[in-house]
Amino acid sequence: MSKLLMFGLLAVIVYLILRGAGRRQRKPPPAPPTQKMVACEHCGVHLPESESLKSGEQHYCCEQHRGLGPLER
Ligand SMILES: [Zn+2]
Repeated sequence: MSKLLMFGLLAVIVYLILRGAGRRQRKPPPAPPTQKMVACEHCGVHLPESESLKSGEQHYCCEQHRGLGPLER
């Protein structure tokens, strides 16, 4: 009797796994993460964060602007 119960439980587990796998396949692939845009502290040009030069919390478009620092307003 316990063997039959175990088999039944196993069948339910297999069914749930297969159903879960099927659901996962139908799910669309996640969208690629959107590139975060930052503005140069000196000239204000917008560029992707990965391409910017960081100086603490500030971002710059090029080495020259990083050397010049934030533009006085
Ligand atoms: Zn700049």
